[in-house]
Amino acid sequence: MTDKAGLKELLPEEVVKAKIREMALSISKDLEGKSPVFVGILDGAFIFLADLIREITVPVEVDFLRAASYGDGTASSGTIRITKDVETDIENRDVVVVEDIVDTGLTFRSVIDHLRAKSPASITVAVLIDKRERREVEVDIDYVGFVVPRGFLVGYGLDCAGRHRELRGVYEIIK
Ligand code: 5GP
Repeated sequence: MTDKAGLKELLPEEVVKAKIREMALSISKDLEGKSPVFVGILDGAFIFLADLIREITVPVEVDFLRAASYGDGTASSGTIRITKDVETDIENRDVVVVEDIVDTGLTFRSVIDHLRAKSPASITVAVLIDKRERREVEVDIDYVGFVVPRGFLVGYGLDCAGRHRELRGVYEIIK
């Protein structure tokens, strides 16, 4: 474990990498014969998406969506604004939504509802970290990397006020 000041390492790089290979294997098997559109939720999912698609064995397309949540900064309100929508026509396409972390589920559920309204053939959801104990609304997640009970996590794409996204593992902020 390589702790940095104010951070405690939770998921080392090799552990994350191995899990992503495992997730990609299941996703590729389940999507055999299809050519899905992977939709990464910005900003946090960009590293996860990049690593995940390079382990996927079916042909993929990639697009991105960014949602701003109206909240007080630390708690999400569930009311979202799409600040960058997907540009691919996903009607009748198989969509894989790629998200870094699901916490209360409020933001994520709104994002899924938004994509569902575009009538894709299917939506499956891959989430690297599931903070399940904090869930306020139910969301269906098809592929989960890690279940982490609590804590504010950074690294591997996740930030705290814009920092720490570049860390290779996942860390918890400690006081
Ligand atoms: P929700 O509570 O709506 O499920 O999560 C909303 C968003 O809050 C997530 O997409 C993510 O951007 C952010 N978030 C939730 N928990 C954490 C965390 O532990 N670390 C970081 N960096 N962001 C988080």
